[in-house]
Amino acid sequence: MAGLKCLICFEVIKEPLFLSNYFSVPPVLCEACRSLLQELEGRRCTHCWRKLLADEADCTDCSFMHRHFTPLDTIHVLYDYNDFMKELIHCYKGRGDVRLAAVFAELLRAQHKTIASYDCIIPLPTSEDKLNSRGFSQIEAILEESRYSFCQPLKMAGRTKQSMLTKRERLQQENPFTVIAPVEGRVLIVDDIYTTGLTVHRAAEVLRHENVSAIGVLAFARP
Ligand SMILES: [Zn+2]
Ligand SMILES: [Zn+2]
Repeated sequence: MAGLKCLICFEVIKEPLFLSNYFSVPPVLCEACRSLLQELEGRRCTHCWRKLLADEADCTDCSFMHRHFTPLDTIHVLYDYNDFMKELIHCYKGRGDVRLAAVFAELLRAQHKTIASYDCIIPLPTSEDKLNSRGFSQIEAILEESRYSFCQPLKMAGRTKQSMLTKRERLQQENPFTVIAPVEGRVLIVDDIYTTGLTVHRAAEVLRHENVSAIGVLAFARP
């Protein structure tokens, strides 16, 4: 195993970590980089994992979302959106460093139990205009790298950059998702960051018209 280098810091990865890897796929992340990933800490909403304010009893994000959408059955969030994760996602998505898909794939494989409890894994699709500018669909690339089989029953139309709009304006927009292939059973939508959750709730909304029994979401990070 000598000579395996961490995809982030390029240091040689020591052997023992290889044994802990579920599928015995060679690791791509060294222990030092792995230690920079931060677990979700502090007082958080037990449904959407948002950090709750000191005087906040019920999560206002969840109550807002549940006034407009059927609640997601489960939201799985792997890590805090700390500076390290921010940089990692920026390099992958923003700068388009597709090699880093292997890092996210490694984090995903550690969630094997969760993933095995679903019938169908759905990468949150990238809209066509973004696909053209980035050149790859970021979540699909991670799933391909992870070797999990997945399906893509969703298509996403191009739309105005979401950060330019207010929460109200975003809510009034048409649902950008359409279902293009049959899907059934327990489905897990995979996305990179869970922030407002509006996009995944929109995706879930169209899937609810299909023969799905449960909808979960897995995101790598949560602010
Ligand atoms: Zn490293
Ligand atoms: Zn919440």
